[in-house]
Amino acid sequence: MKNNFSYWEQESFLSGFDVLIIGSGIVGLSAALSLKSQKPKLKIGVLEAGFLPAGASTKNAGFACFGSISELIEELKTGREDQVAELIELRWKGLEKLRKNLGDKAILFEQYGGFEVFKRTESDFAKTCIEQIPYFNKLLGPLIGKPDIYAVNNTKIAELGMNGITNLIHNKYEGQIDTGKMMLALVSKVQGLGVSIFNNCRVQKIESKLNEQVLITNQGNFRAKSSILATNAFGAELIPELDVFPGRGQVLITEPIKGLKIKGSFHYNRGYTYFRNVHDRILLGGGRDLDFEAEQTLEPGITDIIQESLEKLLFETIVPQQKVKIEHRWCGVMGFGKELKPIVKKIGPGLYCAVRCNGMGVAMGSLLGEQVANLIDL
Ligand SMILES: Cc1cc2nc3c(=O)[nH]c(=O)nc-3n(C[C@H](O)[C@H](O)[C@H](O)COP(=O)(O)OP(=O)(O)OC[C@H]3O[C@@H](n4cnc5c(N)ncnc54)[C@H](O)[C@@H]3O)c2cc1C
Repeated sequence: MKNNFSYWEQESFLSGFDVLIIGSGIVGLSAALSLKSQKPKLKIGVLEAGFLPAGASTKNAGFACFGSISELIEELKTGREDQVAELIELRWKGLEKLRKNLGDKAILFEQYGGFEVFKRTESDFAKTCIEQIPYFNKLLGPLIGKPDIYAVNNTKIAELGMNGITNLIHNKYEGQIDTGKMMLALVSKVQGLGVSIFNNCRVQKIESKLNEQVLITNQGNFRAKSSILATNAFGAELIPELDVFPGRGQVLITEPIKGLKIKGSFHYNRGYTYFRNVHDRILLGGGRDLDFEAEQTLEPGITDIIQESLEKLLFETIVPQQKVKIEHRWCGVMGFGKELKPIVKKIGPGLYCAVRCNGMGVAMGSLLGEQVANLIDL
């Protein structure tokens, strides 16, 4: 190693790895959890570029969702029915795995339901979506084992205190989690099993050999028998042939709001915009569709065009009666591709990847981690 590591550090901390995982997001840590649960003797290290995870897993909105009607209609424009069905199943089963791995209490899972809302000016669009409810209930029913998933519930609108919303589709099986608590629980679970997480450790290059993976990092070189790339949006930086491109998501959160009537996870505009309550605050994010080109970036940043549109929706539609302060803003980066399906595969001898969560990695991440772990021949 190029640093001043002692013999002891090199022997105990930095060598002898069976598997090295690149990226400490939900996918990388779930892969570590799955490997350690199956084979407790494995020595596993996770190399993370950020001080905290710097991708999406600690930055997201915490929707435990599997698709709003308009979002699914949109996905059917890109993928065939069987492909979209497979994705929905991944999301649902992924959420079940997340809840089983960590427990509902640790991740603050609450099933307040999901609501897709439409403004008065969007009645034709709402009609198109409402007409598709029977189709999607039939498609999704066997996948998630529940009847009547989506239903119109316009009487709910009056309870929410929103302005200008005239149509609402309710999904009673959707939930929400506390993203920070989820990741903290995952980190402590894998560390409790003996997995080492190295932060501020950016992999710069992977030298993949027949019996050994050498990961060149800013802290020196790490070696293992196998390695897993779990860097999602950043996937193509290390393996350029992967079809993954970034999509930045911007988010804001308000101060606590007295008497907040909104409870649950809300979808607007084909899934591009979303909001929910976090206790008595509103978390609101999205708007990537307003500026696709600028948001196709790995760079952190927030922009006026998107923040102003989020604020407009917040003040004019979501909490129109109240003067509310925005307390905090941030962004995270998602991994998209030409195809909707995530990439979970063996890249070469000893090198595997699980990337491209297409903006739904809270839902499917735990399962993708397990799937990639199961590919490894140990
Ligand atoms: C604003 C926002 C809202 C979202 N809301 C939801 C939601 O409500 N529900 C949902 O299901 N999904 C949501 N998502 C998507 C979800 O958060 C992601 O799909 C998921 O977190 C991806 O997990 P991951 O482990 O694959 O990747 P990440 O969490 O991005 O982790 C990849 C890690 O790799 C690290 N890394 C990158 N390059 C290197 C390198 N060279 N060396 C070492 N480490 C490296 C990064 O720092 C990062 O920590 C949202 C995403 C965003 C940005």
